Amino acid sequence: MEKDNDEDWTNYSSAQYGVGDNSWDEDSENEDKVDLGDFDFIEENFEITPAPSKSGQTHLVRLGCCNHCIGRVGGVSLVNKTLFEAGKEIRDEVLKSEPQLNETGIDVCPMCEDLFDDIDLITSRLAASLNDYEFSRLQLGFQLPSDLIESEEHIRISFGASRSHALKQSLSLEISKKIRMLIDNIEIVNENPEILALVDCLTLSVKIECRSLYLYTRYCKFERGLPQTHWSCRTCKGRGCEKCDDTGLQYPQSVQSLIADPLLEIFSAESHSTHSMGREDIDVRCLGNGRPTVIELKNPKKRNADLEKLTKLVNKSASGKVEIKKLRNSNKSEVVRVKDAAADKSYHICFKLINELDEEGNEIEHHLSDEEIIEKISELNGVELNQRTPKRVSHRRADKIRKRKVIELYDIKVNNELVEFKLRAQSGTYIKEMVTSDSGRTTPSVAELLNLKCEVEWLDVLDIHSD
Ligand SMILES: [Zn+2]
Ligand SMILES: [Zn+2]
Repeated sequence: MEKDNDEDWTNYSSAQYGVGDNSWDEDSENEDKVDLGDFDFIEENFEITPAPSKSGQTHLVRLGCCNHCIGRVGGVSLVNKTLFEAGKEIRDEVLKSEPQLNETGIDVCPMCEDLFDDIDLITSRLAASLNDYEFSRLQLGFQLPSDLIESEEHIRISFGASRSHALKQSLSLEISKKIRMLIDNIEIVNENPEILALVDCLTLSVKIECRSLYLYTRYCKFERGLPQTHWSCRTCKGRGCEKCDDTGLQYPQSVQSLIADPLLEIFSAESHSTHSMGREDIDVRCLGNGRPTVIELKNPKKRNADLEKLTKLVNKSASGKVEIKKLRNSNKSEVVRVKDAAADKSYHICFKLINELDEEGNEIEHHLSDEEIIEKISELNGVELNQRTPKRVSHRRADKIRKRKVIELYDIKVNNELVEFKLRAQSGTYIKEMVTSDSGRTTPSVAELLNLKCEVEWLDVLDIHSD
C-alpha cells in the first residue's frame, strides 16, 4: 500500500500563503541567516512609515531589497508592469533624492535572497519535470527556509504596503504566469490538483507528485472461482515462488486484474486498486446491474482517453468472465461514497438438504413435503436475523451479533434434495449463514426451521440496489 501524502503537501501548498514554519528542509538551519539584528536601527527610526510612503520606499532601498521585492511591496500599481519594472521605477525615484543609497553594500536581497532572479530557471525546471505528464490541474508548492520567511515578513509588515503579497504567494503568481505561457490549457489550482509540483527554493529542484486517476463503473462477474481483488500467494506472501509460478498470486486472475490491468498501459500508470461497494466471495457470481466500483490508477502519465472505447477493450479482454458498464470519470470522494454505501442486495441461493445418518451410517429420510419446506422457508420473509460473526470471517472481523433484515424472500423452488430461493436483504447480511445457521450462530435460519443440515451449492448476487 502506498502512503497517502495529501496531508504533508498541504503544508507547502501555495494556498498556505505566508505560513513559514515548515521543517521540511533540515538543512535550512545551516544556511546563512539574515540577521534581524542588522536592522535594529529600524525600530528607533520612528519617522519611517510603510510604503507607499516615501520613507517606507526609501527604507526598502536602504535595506538592499531587489527591484522585484520593492515592486511587490512598494505599494504602486502593477498594471502593465512587471514587478522588476515597478521596483526599478521606485528605486530610481528614491536615488534621485538620496543618491548615496546607490551603495548600500548589501548584495543579497533580504526579502527573497535573490530568488526572483531564478524565476526563469525554476520555471524551466518545472516545465521539464512536467513534460512526461498529461494534466490540466496543477498545484504549486514552495519550500523556503524559515528564517528567510521570517525576515521577509518582518520587512514587509514593517515597511511594505499593507496587503502586499507574501513571498510564497508572489513567487507562486510569477511562476504560474510563466508556466501557463509554456504549457497550454492548464489551470493553477489550490485544491484537487492532478499534479502537485513542489519547488525547493534552496536547491531550486522540483518534486512532482502525480495524483491517482479514478474511474467509476459497475461490474458483473459471471464466473465462479474468481477473487474480487488481487490475492497474494499464501506460500510466499507475494514474493514469488514455485507454487505460484513466480507470479506471487494465489489466483492468476481477479476481477480487479481483469478490469484494471488493460487500463494500466492506456494511462501509463504504475499500479491500480479497486474500491467496490461491498464484496462477494470467490465462489459467488455478481449479476444484474453489477457492483459499483471505482478503479484507481496510480501515478498515471496520461489522463485523457475515450472511455467508451476503453470499456469495450476491457470487456473484450475479460472474455466473458467479467463485464463492466460504461466507464466514467470519478474522484476520491466517490471512493468514500461507494465504500460507505449501505445498499440492499438481492440474491439467488441454492442449497442441498442433507439427511441425518443413523447409527449404522444409513441416511434417515426426512419427511417434509415440498409444500412444508416452502412454507417453513417463507417464515423468514420480513424477519430480522441475529447473526454472530461467521466462523469463516472471524479471523478478520470482531465477534459480535449483527441484526439484519430479510426484506423479501420469494421464488422458493424444491427439486428433490436441492432447494433454491431469491431474497432481498439489508446490506451486510451473511446469506450463506442464513441458510446453514453456521452452527447456530445465525438465528433464525433455514437449517433451524427445517431441522435439517443444509449445504450451500451456489450463490449469486442478483442486484445491488444503489442509486
Ligand atoms: Zn528580493
Ligand atoms: Zn508464491
